[in-house]
Amino acid sequence: AKEGGRNRVCLFSEQREAQMHSRTSLVQELANAIQQGELMLYYQPQFRPDGSLHGAEALLRWRSPSRGLVAPGDFISLAEETGLILSIGDWVLNTACRHLRQIQRSGLHDDQCSLSVNISPRQFADPAFLSKVEQALTSHAAPAQGLKLELTESSLFHDMDHAIEILGQLREQGIGIELDDFGTGYSSLSYLKRLPLDALKLDGSLIADVVSDARDLAILRAAITMAKTLSLTVIAEGVETNEQRAFLTSEGCDLLQGYLLARPMPFDDLEALIERAARQ
Ligand code: C2E
Ligand code: CA
Ligand code: CA
Ligand code: CA
Repeated sequence: AKEGGRNRVCLFSEQREAQMHSRTSLVQELANAIQQGELMLYYQPQFRPDGSLHGAEALLRWRSPSRGLVAPGDFISLAEETGLILSIGDWVLNTACRHLRQIQRSGLHDDQCSLSVNISPRQFADPAFLSKVEQALTSHAAPAQGLKLELTESSLFHDMDHAIEILGQLREQGIGIELDDFGTGYSSLSYLKRLPLDALKLDGSLIADVVSDARDLAILRAAITMAKTLSLTVIAEGVETNEQRAFLTSEGCDLLQGYLLARPMPFDDLEALIERAARQ
């Protein structure tokens, strides 16, 4: 039994070592990914209830030579822990601003398609955040009115006064502020009314069972009522079925996003979609 016990300990530590090693190499590969040009932005379109294109959300993808196409769920939290998210987030902001300039080049179609960018808590807490956003817009000559930032409660609620100050300055420039993953946290009306926001994004998990689950339905209705009370735009994400679409539209959602309408796509495909939409 003693032997077995020793073997088990040995096996465990080997496993652990392998885990640590793979974590370390993941961090190293991720740290190189920007310079190697392995990061890309996909875009998932957002539509109005009448089917017209409103904007698109930038979603990060990592095309790793050794790992294939890696989804953000597999590396964002590690990037957040290690601080790599700061340089990755800069890259995301700059790439999205370059794309924004490209689709709003003419200046004739100012509200033709906005782009929204996910901002992680660590990025938002960075004292240089505001100037980084301004710099990304300026250096690509991108229109601030076309840029939206998606923030989560965890970014905003731990220092409300700071958040209110920063959001106010961003909005003064015309940048849209959206509260992401709404319905998964603790937001109450009294918190929300203090924050300078433009939109609430109802989390996909709320929408998944809304047609069959009475409690999800009640939460969703309360969330929409809250948003309307504060005059915020309501965006529903994770729309997968026609039933959900019909229901969300009838409940007053302003914008819809989800696999039913369009999957996240490379920028070239978004451009083609915008051109088709403009010709209609
Ligand atoms: P999120 O901001 O909630 O983004 C929505 C996620 O839902 C995306 O996953 C999107 O591909 C997925 N999705 C869209 N439509 C549907 C649908 O109809 N059904 C289902 N089941 N899922 C749908 P993705 O691209 O894997 O991103 C996961 C998360 O990673 C994002 O969640 C966001 O929190 C984070 N993320 C993505 N890009 C960035 C980025 O550039 N910066 C930061 N900080 N976080 C990012
Ligand atoms: Ca988002
Ligand atoms: Ca979400
Ligand atoms: Ca999320």
